[in-house]
Amino acid sequence: MEKQELLYEGKAKKVYATQDPKLLIVAYKDDATAFNGQKKGNIQGKGAINNRMTNLLMARLEQEGIPTHLVKEVSGRETLVKKAAIIPLEVIVRNIAAGSFSKRYGVEEGLVFDAPTLEFSYKNDSLRDPLLNDDHAIALGLASREELALIRKYALAVNRLLGKIWRACGVTLVDFKVEFGRLEDGTIVLADEISPDTCRLWDARTGEKLDKDRFRQDLGGVEAAYVQAMERLTKGIQPPEQGM
Ligand code: ADP
Ligand code: UDP
Repeated sequence: MEKQELLYEGKAKKVYATQDPKLLIVAYKDDATAFNGQKKGNIQGKGAINNRMTNLLMARLEQEGIPTHLVKEVSGRETLVKKAAIIPLEVIVRNIAAGSFSKRYGVEEGLVFDAPTLEFSYKNDSLRDPLLNDDHAIALGLASREELALIRKYALAVNRLLGKIWRACGVTLVDFKVEFGRLEDGTIVLADEISPDTCRLWDARTGEKLDKDRFRQDLGGVEAAYVQAMERLTKGIQPPEQGM
């Protein structure tokens, strides 16, 4: 499957059409942004790592019964995916307080929750991705109540499965953001990416940050942290045929 016209260039990926109207190719870039695009930079090698990590994790989630957009990795930076109508919600699951949660509610980073929390933000750059609840999402016509219930169920299952995978790699899954979309027949699939750009990952022993917070907070060693997260995952994760 070949790339055809560029349909969209986002902050971290480019999206191309293919000969098949139901399939797209996503190409991961090394560009990095934070704070709604206010901070811009480049993380060398990030595109390839995020592509590979997303695909490893989505393949595992698919095996565990979560429908995903993944079709096939086509190169180091590019993946063939099912085209979906993205539901403009950032679905965020948190196990430990950090980032905007700590800031908004005035709690220290590192507060461990008894149970995961799930929140939705309206994916809208010009409005700065405002937080919203189910009723708001329904009022705005973003999704039906049934779809929101399914998205919650999938997001919490993704949290359980990813938490287990990362734990086996000596990494704590603090929080993450996922997106869902609808296929032509209305099936809800997990889309976009799962990477150190979209997850907070802490070394389980030292607490060292292995994710985009190193870029957001100017902690240095950004490239090395992405490499480290990927190395941990490939060492911890068993090839699919051997099971986990
Ligand atoms: P952003 O749009 O936030 O700058 P990216 O640079 O990651 O983000 O751009 C990738 C875009 O592709 C996002 O808008 C995302 O919602 C969209 N996308 C991800 N998976 C799919 C898919 N399977 N079908 C259609 N669009 C997708
Ligand atoms: N996140 C993301 N894209 C966004 C906002 C958040 O991938 O536009 C991820 C972020 O990397 C973190 C989680 O979602 O893993 C929770 O982010 P938070 O709300 O704390 O926001 P931030 O600190 O990024 O402003």
